Amino acid sequence: SDESGHQIRRVVMLKKQTEIRIHVHEISPLKLRVLDGKVEIFGSELPPKAWLTFQPLQQFAVFTWYGATLEIDGVTRSEKTSDETPMMSYLNLHNTLQVQRHHVTSSARYPGSSQGPRVIIVGDTDSGKSTLAKMLLSWAAKDGCKPTFVDLNVGQSSITMTGTIAATSITMPLDPVEGFPANKAIVHYFGHKAANNNIKLYKALVEELAGELEEEFAKNAESRNAGMVIDTMGWTNGLGCELLKHAIRMFNASVVVVLGQEDTLVKDLNRAFKYKKDLQILKLEKSAGVFSRCSTFRKRLRNNSIKKYFHGATNDLTAYTKTAKFSDVQVYQIGDLRGSSRFGQPLKITPVSIDMDLVNKVLAISYAKQPDEIISSIVAGFVCIRDVDIDEETITYISPSVAELPSNILIMGTLTCNET
Ligand code: ADP
Repeated sequence: SDESGHQIRRVVMLKKQTEIRIHVHEISPLKLRVLDGKVEIFGSELPPKAWLTFQPLQQFAVFTWYGATLEIDGVTRSEKTSDETPMMSYLNLHNTLQVQRHHVTSSARYPGSSQGPRVIIVGDTDSGKSTLAKMLLSWAAKDGCKPTFVDLNVGQSSITMTGTIAATSITMPLDPVEGFPANKAIVHYFGHKAANNNIKLYKALVEELAGELEEEFAKNAESRNAGMVIDTMGWTNGLGCELLKHAIRMFNASVVVVLGQEDTLVKDLNRAFKYKKDLQILKLEKSAGVFSRCSTFRKRLRNNSIKKYFHGATNDLTAYTKTAKFSDVQVYQIGDLRGSSRFGQPLKITPVSIDMDLVNKVLAISYAKQPDEIISSIVAGFVCIRDVDIDEETITYISPSVAELPSNILIMGTLTCNET
C-alpha cells in the first residue's frame, strides 16, 4: 500500500477481496501477469501466466475475490493496494440482475412481451460509471447472457470515436486491457464533445438509438432478455438531469444506479418517477479507486481515443492517406456549429462548403442516402481531413480502412483530430 511509483520487476500478493490500483507511467507501458489465483480487471478475468501490456497512463485495478499473486514489470505513476472496495455491492447488483434475466427467460408467457433488466448508470464525472458498466457486462457475459451496452457519454465515448452515441451487443467478457469491442456497434455521430453543443440533436439521436434497439430486440429474444447496461454523461444537474430523465424514459430503464453522493439527483429522480412503479432507483457507493481526471487529462484521453481510432491502441496501425475529388463527397452539418443551436434550427441539415476550414475535422461517413436521412442513419466510420487543395479541388484524408468510402455523405461537427 505504497502510493509512490515503482519500477522494478516485482511480485505482488493480493489478499482476498482486495485490489491493486495502478496508474501506468506516461513514458512506458507496463506488463503484468497472474502467477497464482484468479484476478479480474473490471469484471473480466485475466488468463493465467500470460503477460498483458498496459499503455502509458492507463488506469485500472486488478481485483481478486479469493486471493492471488501477480508479477508486475514496468513503471507506475502510482499504485496502491486496498481492501476497501464496493465490489461486493456491485456483485450483489449483478446477482439481482441475473435473477431477473432468468425470470424473464423462464416465465415468458407471452414471448415478445418480456424484457430483461435495463440498467442506466448515472453520477458525476469520475464516479466509476463506465467501470461499473464494464463489470456488469463482463459478469453477465461470463454467465452466458448477451446484454447490450449503450453508451450515451459523448465526452468520453467507450465504444468508438469521441462524440458518438452508440450501442453494441456484448457476447463475451470484455478484453481486460482494451475494454469494449467496436465491431458491429450501432453508431450515431453527435459530433461534439459536450451535449450542450446541441441538446435537440443529442435527444434526437438518443431516440433514434432507443428505437433501433427496440427493433433489434423484437427480432432477438436472447438480447431482449439479457437487457441493457447504459452509461451516461457526468452532467447531472439542470439540463443534464433533464437529459438523464429523457434517456431513462426513452430506453424504458428498469433500474437507475446512482453512483456516489448525489442526494439532489436521487431526490430529483424519485420525484420525477414517483408514479413509474417498475423503475427502481438504487444508490451505490463510488469506489475510492476511481481516478479523478482533470480537464487536461480528459482532453488527452479524447485525443488518444481519436488517435486510437485511426492508428490503433499502440500506434501500430497504418492510417491510410487518401484523396477524393470535391465532387465525390458531400459534407453536411447539423444545426449551427457556432453554439447558438438553442435559437437556430438545431436539427437543420445544411451543406458545408469545402474549404480550408475542414482541415483537421473529424467527419463521420453516414449511411444516409439523402441528406434528410442523416439524423436517422447510423455511420460506417470516420475520416479526418488532412488537407484541402482548392486549385485541384481535392481533399486529402486519413482513414483506418483501405477501402473506398462506403458512402459520399459525410457529417461534420466541431470535433477535430487534435482536440484542444
Ligand atoms: P466515469 O465513467 O464515471 O467518468 P470511469 O469509470 O471512466 O468514470 O473511471 C475513471 C477512471 O478511473 C478510469 O480510468 C478507470 O479505469 C479508473 N478506475 C475506476 N475504478 C478504479 C479502481 N477501483 N482502481 C483504479 N482505477 C479505477
